[in-house]
Amino acid sequence: MATNRTFTMLKPDAVEKGHIGAILDKISASGFRIVAMKLTQMTKHDAETFYAIHKERPFFGELVEYMTRGPIVAAILEKDNAVDDFRTLIGATNPADAAEGTIRKLFANSISENAVHGSDSDDNAAIESAFHFSGREMF
Ligand code: UDP
Ligand code: MG
Repeated sequence: MATNRTFTMLKPDAVEKGHIGAILDKISASGFRIVAMKLTQMTKHDAETFYAIHKERPFFGELVEYMTRGPIVAAILEKDNAVDDFRTLIGATNPADAAEGTIRKLFANSISENAVHGSDSDDNAAIESAFHFSGREMF
């Protein structure tokens, strides 16, 4: 399994606010190559499956509502050390704690509506990429 890829979603709040272009600019300027990308909308079942690890958390219902309320941009990104470098680029889960210049600091509303997803491990990057893309959609 390649260890130089990560998976991201530009979440519904970022798409609603017209931030797709600005966020993709930052991602490209930070040295990530786009391997796969699409505008798509998750069903309730999709979001419950994607975030199954959080199903016992108090925010799970709200998270599923949020992630299904509109389209997202799903993408696979390639760079040396992609998973860790992308987590650095997006910043902390809560934008109030995110470093200056990070995507969440710049574009997120709150800890729940935080603009962007980034995989937390190589294994999850592979699982999440396969959840959204077939091999024919990866370049
Ligand atoms: N989330 C939330 N409330 C919380 C923590 C997380 O609504 O207290 C949402 C938020 O959208 C976050 C997602 O659940 O991005 C997944 O949480 P995780 O802890 O995995 O954060 P991430 O890996 O996205 O930084
Ligand atoms: Mg996470």
